[in-house]
Amino acid sequence: MKETTWIIDTASGALTVEGMSESELTRLADDLLTAPSHVNCARPVNVPPARRVRARVGCDEPALRVHRIYHGSVVEGPGRRSVLQLMGCTLRCPGCHTPETHPIDGGVLISVGEVVDLLLDPEGTPRDGVTVLGGEPFLQHENLSLLLSELKGRGQHVTLYSGYTLEELRTRPEPSVREALALADILIDGRFVASLSLGAGEWRGSTNQRVIYAPGR
Ligand code: SF4
Repeated sequence: MKETTWIIDTASGALTVEGMSESELTRLADDLLTAPSHVNCARPVNVPPARRVRARVGCDEPALRVHRIYHGSVVEGPGRRSVLQLMGCTLRCPGCHTPETHPIDGGVLISVGEVVDLLLDPEGTPRDGVTVLGGEPFLQHENLSLLLSELKGRGQHVTLYSGYTLEELRTRPEPSVREALALADILIDGRFVASLSLGAGEWRGSTNQRVIYAPGR
C-alpha cells in the first residue's frame, strides 16, 4: 500500500499531501475537496534557478554557489522553511532526485550578505526557520559557516542537510566544518539510498538518514 503524509498548516489552513503523484492529487482534489487553489509537492513548484533572481558579488566578498532559493516549504525541517539550495555535490547517490545540483561550477555566485537578504525577504513571509540543503553544503564549508553565523545572529532556526554522516563530518580537520555543525539546530545526515526511501519519515529521503538535534554538541 502507498504511504501518504497529510500536513495541515494551522496558520493558513493549507493542506499538503505527500506521497502522491500530481495527477493522483489532482484527481483526489477534484473528487473530494472543494475548490483547491493549487496542487504542488509540498515545496513551491516552478522555483526559478538562482540565475533568474538578483545576483551580485564583489571580488572580495564571501559568496556561495547557489542553485535556488524558495519559501514556504513544509517538508524540509520543522514548520515553514525558507530554503537555500546550494550547488555542487560529488557523492553521486544512485537515484538522487536533484542531479541538476551536482556540477561544482554550476549555479550562480551570490554574496553571503545577499543570500541572507533573499532568504529573509520578503518581510512578512511566514517562516519558522531556514533550511540549507544541496547539492552538498559542506563543499562550501567556509562560507556556509559564515552564512549560518549570520542567520543565527538574526534569530533563525537552522536545519542543515548533508550527504556526509555526522561521524564523517567530525573527522574533518577544517575549523569551519566544526563551526557549521555547532551553528546548526538540526542536521539531517547521510547519503540518499533509493532502496530505503519507503517510510523514510518526515524531512528525510531514506531511512538511513538521521535527524540529529544540536549536532555540534
Ligand atoms: S548527497 Fe544529496 S545531492 Fe548529493 S548525490 Fe546524494 S542525494 Fe544527491
